[in-house]
Formats: sequence, C-alpha cells, structure tokens
Amino acid sequence: MVLSLVLQGSSYLSAHTYGILHRMHHAHADTELDPHSPKYDKNLFAMMWRTKTIYNNIFYEKVPIEDKWKKDLPTWKSFENFASSGYVRLTWAVLYIAFYVVFATHWWMYLLLPIHFVMGPAHGAIINWFAHRVGYTNFKLKDTSKNIMPVDIFMMGEGYHNNHHRFGARANFGVRWHEIDPVYIAIWTFNKLGIIKIKLQPVKVKN
Ligand SMILES: [Zn+2]
Ligand SMILES: [Zn+2]
Repeated sequence: MVLSLVLQGSSYLSAHTYGILHRMHHAHADTELDPHSPKYDKNLFAMMWRTKTIYNNIFYEKVPIEDKWKKDLPTWKSFENFASSGYVRLTWAVLYIAFYVVFATHWWMYLLLPIHFVMGPAHGAIINWFAHRVGYTNFKLKDTSKNIMPVDIFMMGEGYHNNHHRFGARANFGVRWHEIDPVYIAIWTFNKLGIIKIKLQPVKVKN
C-alpha cells in the first residue's frame, strides 16, 4: 500500500476499494451491475464520473458490500484515509511542480504537469473505456473487452484487455507471440527470485 502511494502519488486509489470495483467489473462486465462499462454512458467523462461516485460510495462505506467482494483484499483504512486526503494529494502536486522548477529547461514543459496530476484517472479512462471499444479480440466473450494494440508498450501489458477478461487470474496478459507484457517480465523475475509465487497458466491460441 505504501508503494501504491509512492507510485500513484496525487491520483492515489485505495487498493481495497479498487479491488472490490474490479472484481465487480469482471463478474458483471458490460451489464447494468458493471461499475464502469462504455455501454451504459454516453461519453467517457460520464462513465468516469459514475465510476468515481461508485468508488467513493464504497470507500466511505455509504453502501453495504457483501463479504465475497472483500475476501483477501489488503485492508489498512487509516493509511488509505491519509493517502486519499486532499492535503496529501496537494503535497504531491507541489512536489511535481518543484521537480519541474528544478529540472525543466523550457516553459512549455510545464504544460505536461496536468498529465502527472491525473495519471490514475487517465489510465482508468484508457482501459475502462477504450479497451472496451477499440482493438481486436483473441477470444469471443460475452463482454466487449478488446486488446488495444498488438504490442502494448503504452499500457505496459494491461492493454491486452480481451486476454485479461478471458483469463482474469493469469499473471501474463499476453497470449500470442507478439503480445509482450512488460509487467509480466518483472513478475516472472520476482517469481524466479522466490520473492513471490505465481501459478503459471500456459495458454494456446490459434494464429
Ligand atoms: Zn474490462
Ligand atoms: Zn482485471
């Protein structure tokens, strides 16, 4: 959780809450019970706003959540309240600006700052909206999930979203030879070093 805060900074999301949301997305993908599906909103921002509302309702415990959604998720409420507070988000923003003050060599570089402020929602928008609308599929599923691009260098493997919906528990999101998953390389290395233990799930697809 501490690393989540360090790496997500100003757009920190609770691993516990997002875990619940994400399980609901897999269980109810592209139905009315899906917390984020492009099928039920007229545009990207409407979907993101609805996701934010559901996220907040779960985070602030405004809606009852069945135990099956919470099972084995990391829980550290006091830390998550701290990491989600306006002061902490603002502190990150100040740190990003300070970094630019020290290192930026041209004024236009400051135009990149908003990307840092909303990195999390931008990532969510790309996967939750576009990976359910554009791209190709390896598997015929009941949902609209797609693989955004054949070699996913921008989303570090998460763009193989159709593969991920087919094999939700598989660490490697790539199934075809060209679908290289950069994050899986890290996971594979940690597994080899004995830091973590993963279940390998070999998959064959017809080319
Ligand atoms: Zn999805
Ligand atoms: Zn998933």
